[in-house]
Amino acid sequence: MQLIIHRGTHEIGGSCIELESKNGRIVLDIGMPLVDERGEQFDFRPYRKLSGPQLIEKNILPSVSGMYRFDDSKKSPDALLISHPHLDHFGLLHFVNPALPLYMSKGCHKLVELSYYFNEAAFDFEKIELVTPWKLFNIADFTITPYLVDHSGFDALAFLIEADGTRLFYSGDFRGHGRKHIVFDKIIKEPPENIDYLLLEGSHIEETDGDYDTEEAVELGLVELLNNKEKLYFIATSSQNIDRIVSIYRACKKTNRTFVIDPYTALILESIKSVSFAIPQHDWGNNMKVLFTDSRHTKLLQKDSILGRFEKSEVKYDDIIKDKGRYLIKDTFALRNKFDADKNLSNTSLIYSMWKGYLEDDEELRVFWAKNNVQIIHVHTSGHANVRDLKKFAEALNPGTIIPIHTFSPDKFREHFLDKVRICSDRERVNL
Ligand SMILES: [Zn+2]
Ligand SMILES: [Zn+2]
Repeated sequence: MQLIIHRGTHEIGGSCIELESKNGRIVLDIGMPLVDERGEQFDFRPYRKLSGPQLIEKNILPSVSGMYRFDDSKKSPDALLISHPHLDHFGLLHFVNPALPLYMSKGCHKLVELSYYFNEAAFDFEKIELVTPWKLFNIADFTITPYLVDHSGFDALAFLIEADGTRLFYSGDFRGHGRKHIVFDKIIKEPPENIDYLLLEGSHIEETDGDYDTEEAVELGLVELLNNKEKLYFIATSSQNIDRIVSIYRACKKTNRTFVIDPYTALILESIKSVSFAIPQHDWGNNMKVLFTDSRHTKLLQKDSILGRFEKSEVKYDDIIKDKGRYLIKDTFALRNKFDADKNLSNTSLIYSMWKGYLEDDEELRVFWAKNNVQIIHVHTSGHANVRDLKKFAEALNPGTIIPIHTFSPDKFREHFLDKVRICSDRERVNL
């Protein structure tokens, strides 16, 4: 088997891996980069007018022969597998030829499709294969077993891939301290055997992010804050971090607050309720309500006659203002500005429940809250494994070789995994 990591050997984001066997070729992930070559936040906009081949030349699009819409005269790969619905793993999918078979989990499919919907783009893939965790399948001469993993991205998978007598395990993005830590514990207890190569993510090989150890600790931290009935709280979080949405909902239940979401979030939660019945829904009662905001997303939902579905769960702005201590509001641009315009941000705190770096980079947001004398409290735990769990994972799988991926510090792997580590370069063709 041959391996090419097109991007990810020395960076977090934009993951793309190509595997070639005697009779087949598959691609794992087609992510949007998170950083540019100067290490600053990646911005696709300056490249929008470039052609496909120009994007390949600039190393924005991975050079995978025959994979793209503009490149369909060449022999295409046999399939593209998406590990989970984070943009740094699927963000360049719209360049891919829609005839290429696409493999992903049911939850990943739902969220990727929704992201297309909100971008008003057609999701026109012709062959979508929904994979079931732990149920193996074949593509050409590859045998693949998907493993459900614990991650802040919903319904995330790792893949065990076997071909030409070689066994490779791609960890995808994962952690051991979220709401699905049971699947992490399971793989530690019953690891796949005889792994030759482990492509191991190392987002936190050099540090851990967040003040809280586990998702449960985040929930408890929220409960402690929300018990202060004098205050109105906003919470900044990703609508697609479903573990976090569950933590917030549970904290609201325990403190008798109403988690106020926007229609966009309500639709995301509704779209994945068939994947897990434990995901809180807009119509579950007093601890979750929908506030209709004046945003582009809301207008789109109105145009498509979707908004009406959430009317029965609607909470009115004036009701929130009358009894601020009973609510926790999911922060959105439209909402915070409405509260500001009406001078309704007194005695308010913002719970920042995302990676601290986003806040540090967002000066406008910090200025907005500071201007309103709103205190910002960080309550978060990372979507990625800490060093302790990375080591546990690598020890359990006991591979012949560990190849760092999804990391800014591949060298750090050597401190923990010694001579098992093989550091690759982006676009290097490696014989396994
Ligand atoms: Zn991820
Ligand atoms: Zn990632």
